[in-house]
Amino acid sequence: MNPETFYTLSYGLYIVSSESKERKNGYVANTVFQVTAIPSQLAVSCSKNNLSAKIISKSGYFSVSVLHKDVSEELLGRFGYKSGNDIDKFSETQYFTGKTGVPIVTEDSVAWFECKVLQQVDVGSHLLFIGEVLDGDFLDIDKEPITYSYFRNVRRGVAPKNAPTYIEKKKVQKQPSIIEKPVNLQKWVCLVCGYIYDPALGDPDSGIAPGTLFEDLPSDWVCPVCGAEKSDFETIN
Ligand code: FE
Repeated sequence: MNPETFYTLSYGLYIVSSESKERKNGYVANTVFQVTAIPSQLAVSCSKNNLSAKIISKSGYFSVSVLHKDVSEELLGRFGYKSGNDIDKFSETQYFTGKTGVPIVTEDSVAWFECKVLQQVDVGSHLLFIGEVLDGDFLDIDKEPITYSYFRNVRRGVAPKNAPTYIEKKKVQKQPSIIEKPVNLQKWVCLVCGYIYDPALGDPDSGIAPGTLFEDLPSDWVCPVCGAEKSDFETIN
């Protein structure tokens, strides 16, 4: 089959969070959907490899924050491409604690939900958590929720490996280029997270001056968003 047909399915982008034994964690999910209205129930799909799957299983509660279109790369990088085994994702994140004790991210979000797990379904690589919505409210009604399509096509984001919608890069056909840009203006994209290295801008946060070609980046330079190595980048048109 053509795996790119999956891209025609519509999704949003969310941060799903939980806490167990004073350990908070959360991850970026695109597979959050309302299952029923009465009672209000949401379902979320979470990779068994995610620390969050274990934490939600243990605590029996989770929160969902609905991200907006201008969500920062830093927030997406922190929750989407880094593991709670390596960093405390909440140390630099705006959030509050819900009635059930779960953290609820407020940063770059338009609304939130707090849920109690009613069922946990093992679907192979992922766990599907079906939760009753206990509470929820708007955070920023002036902002528009981001869709997964906007994230992919406008923000040039790529699903991380643990996402249910992840497609191996070798299975995705590379679009033929119409006009090849001169090599010295060449931008490179991170195949893990979608970050674009633009030589005109450099990467000042990592000490890379504007005007530095990708080829001239030090070999130990890594993607500022997800930490991928230079070999995980390819040229874009
Ligand atoms: Fe990256």
